[in-house]
Amino acid sequence: ETLVVAIDGPSGSGKSTVARRVAAALGLRYLDTGAMYRAVTWWALEQGVDLADTERVAALAREIPLRMGQDPRAPAVAVAGTDIAAAIRTSRISAAVSAVATNLGVRAELVSRQQAVAREGGVVIEGRDITTVVAPDAPVRVLLTAHEDVRLARRAREVHGSDDADAVDATRDQVVRRDADDSTVASFHQAADGVDVVDSSLLSLDETVDAVLGLVEK
Ligand code: C5P
Repeated sequence: ETLVVAIDGPSGSGKSTVARRVAAALGLRYLDTGAMYRAVTWWALEQGVDLADTERVAALAREIPLRMGQDPRAPAVAVAGTDIAAAIRTSRISAAVSAVATNLGVRAELVSRQQAVAREGGVVIEGRDITTVVAPDAPVRVLLTAHEDVRLARRAREVHGSDDADAVDATRDQVVRRDADDSTVASFHQAADGVDVVDSSLLSLDETVDAVLGLVEK
């Protein structure tokens, strides 16, 4: 299987869940590129490296013994044999990751690792710049979007287990700030030429997965 499915989208678009489900349905591997930026962030903080020291952080990205498990049913992230799948989801990492993702030396290294995976084929790759930079020639390229209110409610349920007004408010600052930080890297609210847009605002998870699978069969 050589198929590559590239999926981009902002946080809260449901991208990771959808990408995993699509990979499982098609028997493809799965690569979460956001988790790679989070892993470098975790590693840098672990070593006490100042994230503003772009040279050092880029050097860490080139050296990190990062292993991305590619089973969509059990995605794993390990650094030097330590499982960090949970550690990279903390708010400490979420708050710091943009500083690492805007580091061009880091991006050059991680994009090249991601392109190596894309060349092997048989994979669903998700992130912010997959349809445009990592795998612009992928036969299936999807921008997954959702209205901001929907994304905030989904994020609030993920992080706080509720989407009441307090939970949404607590999520809003972080999501809006990270969207703004991220858009300095990639304009992921706008689909590049030839990229199909799937708006999941009014779709259930199953319907969203089906919409993406429909693009694969097309
Ligand atoms: O998708 P996730 O929230 O895990 O991504 C974490 C961060 O990594 C994003 O906020 C973004 O700054 C960055 N990222 C990126 N390019 C990608 C994937 C993620 O810059 N391909």
